[in-house]
Amino acid sequence: MAEPILKVDGLKKHYPICKGMFNKQVATRYVVDGVDIEVFPGETVALVGESGCGKTVLLRVLLGIEDPTEGEVYYYGKNLKEMSKQERREIRRKVQMIFQDAASALHPRFSILESLSEPLILGGMTDKAEIEKRVCETLEKVGMEPSYRFRNPDSLSGGQRQRILIARALVERPELILADEPISALDVSLQAQVLNLLMDLQEEYKLSMLFVAHDLAVVRQIATYILIMYAGHILESAPASEIYSNAMHPYTQVLLESAPSISKGVRNEDFNLNLKVGDAPDPANPPSGCVFHTRCVYADERCCCEVPQPVEVSPHHIVRCHKAKTAAEFAKELKKQDAEA
Ligand code: SF4
Repeated sequence: MAEPILKVDGLKKHYPICKGMFNKQVATRYVVDGVDIEVFPGETVALVGESGCGKTVLLRVLLGIEDPTEGEVYYYGKNLKEMSKQERREIRRKVQMIFQDAASALHPRFSILESLSEPLILGGMTDKAEIEKRVCETLEKVGMEPSYRFRNPDSLSGGQRQRILIARALVERPELILADEPISALDVSLQAQVLNLLMDLQEEYKLSMLFVAHDLAVVRQIATYILIMYAGHILESAPASEIYSNAMHPYTQVLLESAPSISKGVRNEDFNLNLKVGDAPDPANPPSGCVFHTRCVYADERCCCEVPQPVEVSPHHIVRCHKAKTAAEFAKELKKQDAEA
């Protein structure tokens, strides 16, 4: 089997909460708490979870913007912590990010040419004509006329700005893209266009992708493997087809039920039969036992005190739940009733 481009091993990111005159640490925010990920060449791994579950912090650690509290990040088998400056520079070229908010990710005073040239110049390219040629080629790849290079971001629509962000990630011809909810700020019609564009570019450039999203409908077309994240933990991970046909964790079932679809329309909160009313846990005060027990309708005493261990229920399908089978059977029954109604 090929070596993973990205491997994340037991990653934790905790933040101290300090108070008082001496800035003494009084508590800890457990934002990411033991995450494992592997992304193989040509694969799209989706990381799905609601806002505040730790996805964005995880991406910042993967990009080297923040150091992990514990755990390791490997690119091409090499530990990020042990890389020389030169090796880190090379990784920065091979691994690019697509940001969620195009409006704030592009400098308002920079022309598109300046914004797209910046990563090339930082990567060591000096020939102006060569840089401009690469920018024009990349704009065409994302379906925009090269003449757009003379425009500023505020003269573009939301969809065009998102294409520019994709172009900026691609301009250095990376091998791995980390995409932080790249279509969540767009209208539904534009979401489909941008998603199709990403899939075409992935095919053309043989890209690997870690695609972060907050709902399962968005990643259905694009993901080959899916990780379900909640309160800093991965609760279920499986090949995409397994998640959509045989989700076993109660939280994954909640996400599936609440995902909009053409046949169901947008479902309201009442349909989330597997979810107790309440907010996601506070990272400074995470629940004991299973992190999902405060919202799970199947929770019992064991769930409140014993952390569920990962169980591989079928090849590459891993679930952390004491009652995964009961929940999966209940979800199937609901689906059947839904289809008959
Ligand atoms: S371990 Fe218990 S609380 Fe956690 S998801 Fe499973 S049934 Fe629910």
